Amino acid sequence: MPWDLSDRAVAITGASSGIGEATALLCARSGASVALAARRGDRIDALAERIEAEGGRAIAVPTDVSDEGEARAFVQRAHDELGPLDALINNAGVMLLGPVEGADTAQWRQMIEVNVLGLLYCTHAALPLMREQGSGHIVNVSSVAGRRAASGAAVYNLTKFGVNGFSEGLRQEAARSGVRVTVIEPGFVETELQGHNAGNERVAAGIDKMKEQLGAVLQADDIAEAIVYALAQPPHVTVAEVLVLPATQRT
Ligand code: NDP
Repeated sequence: MPWDLSDRAVAITGASSGIGEATALLCARSGASVALAARRGDRIDALAERIEAEGGRAIAVPTDVSDEGEARAFVQRAHDELGPLDALINNAGVMLLGPVEGADTAQWRQMIEVNVLGLLYCTHAALPLMREQGSGHIVNVSSVAGRRAASGAAVYNLTKFGVNGFSEGLRQEAARSGVRVTVIEPGFVETELQGHNAGNERVAAGIDKMKEQLGAVLQADDIAEAIVYALAQPPHVTVAEVLVLPATQRT
């Protein structure tokens, strides 16, 4: 067991696939109890069963994080059933790319509601619990797209730049109450995320081309390692920001 998260309770949003699923598995294998949130209840049920079959502890809570009530209920249930809640991993996200002009504005709302508001709702629910216990850790999964903007990604950039700014402001604010904040910025990771654009042939072709040019892209496990590294640090250490890129990714 490379990391020791024994006796920790960790809540993870977007745990039904990709980075969230890999993070849940690595947290559980490192000794943590995990609470899993996503809309696809069958996926998180199956993951919870898998974790329990391996000897871990997991609960699955079907949740749409863009619904404030559901987001808050997830965090509270994680705390009540597994807690005290040690960590919240705000990972749920969607990436819908394309030019600003002519965009389907429903896609903008979805990105802002999930990537930004969902993260804020879960954080708002977790903070008083963590302040009361004098410790806690909030990990926000942003992106390299939170540091560098690109044509065709402007609204996704807006959400992830927002996550980066919020994370740094919150890190400074929460430090007083013993709550640590980490922002994780992955580059290209092979997950279902790119498939969110399957309906837009031009965007999908651009993503395929980028992947081909990069060669070896990251796997979800690579990001799970970075998240668990941050969680496993001793209480006097905050890993504030981690940018993880495929070795070939320049922008
Ligand atoms: P996936 O598409 O595999 O995972 C996204 C997760 O978010 C799913 O579990 C999905 O679950 C969940 N989700 C989406 N909408 C909601 C919602 N309304 N409520 C609850 N959960 C929701 O992609 P990744 O694993 O790649 O993405 C995870 C995070 O990593 C995202 O924030 C993404 O922006 C970020 N990221 C990814 C990169 C990549 O290249 N893959 C690069 C940089 C950052 P469900 O559909 O079941 O609700």
